[in-house]
Amino acid sequence: MFLFWRFAFVSVLMAMLCTCAAPPVSTPTVTAVPTSTPSVPDAFTAQRQAMVAMQIRARDVRDPDVLRAMETVPRHEFVPKELLAQAYNDHPLPIGYGQTISQPYIVAVMTELAQVKRGDRVLEIGTGSGYQAAILAVLTDEVYSVEIIPALAESAAERLKRLGYTSVRVKNADGYNGWEEYAPYDAIVVTCAPDHIPPPLIAQLKDGGRMVIPVGPVGGFQTLRRVIKRGDQVLSENVMGVLFVPLVRGK
Ligand code: SAH
Repeated sequence: MFLFWRFAFVSVLMAMLCTCAAPPVSTPTVTAVPTSTPSVPDAFTAQRQAMVAMQIRARDVRDPDVLRAMETVPRHEFVPKELLAQAYNDHPLPIGYGQTISQPYIVAVMTELAQVKRGDRVLEIGTGSGYQAAILAVLTDEVYSVEIIPALAESAAERLKRLGYTSVRVKNADGYNGWEEYAPYDAIVVTCAPDHIPPPLIAQLKDGGRMVIPVGPVGGFQTLRRVIKRGDQVLSENVMGVLFVPLVRGK
């Protein structure tokens, strides 16, 4: 039932997901929000609470830490300012360079599947706006994120710092190769879709580590997969159909 529901929903999601024309990335100015304390009320607090209640909890995300993170992170800070009014809507939004910030529900589902707990070391591939990295940073102090577009890597790093998510480290590189320096990771969250699971990411996963990754051909049907490494074994479970921007390879 649960899965069927997700699939039914995802067909709607897939219709909505797109890499839209690129508005310029904005740098809005709002006071910093410390990550370790509950969300400071802002003009969007009511919208954020409604987003969690209606789009996330009412569907099937139940992990209280994930729900709290989604209630805490000011999503409106991660979208271009001309799209501010849509920041808490139930769909992805363009962030420039042909890329998107994912739909809130998808961010919540992926975070829940990654089972991040305090003390975990987490790698994200596809920093984009930095929103998913900020959600992860509420759950643990060690977040590493790799972004292939230099301007996005730079603006996300600046934004995360300004908002107080100082524990997130961002690197401009091809995330297909992971981030060897800090490996192994307890969890890896990939927010762009390769057509196969990159072997370096499996190699950089801890024994017992979880990876959440959309896999599929460019422009084709993709499946969100949850991969668990147990010793020499790699177990993979299909979660649901999704549509992400492709993982592109660096030179
Ligand atoms: N997690 C982001 C949304 C990601 S959109 C957020 O919360 O806003 C997918 C991102 O993956 C884009 O920014 C895109 O540039 C990036 N990307 C694509 N291929 C990549 C690669 N090989 N390595 C790292 N990042 C990549």
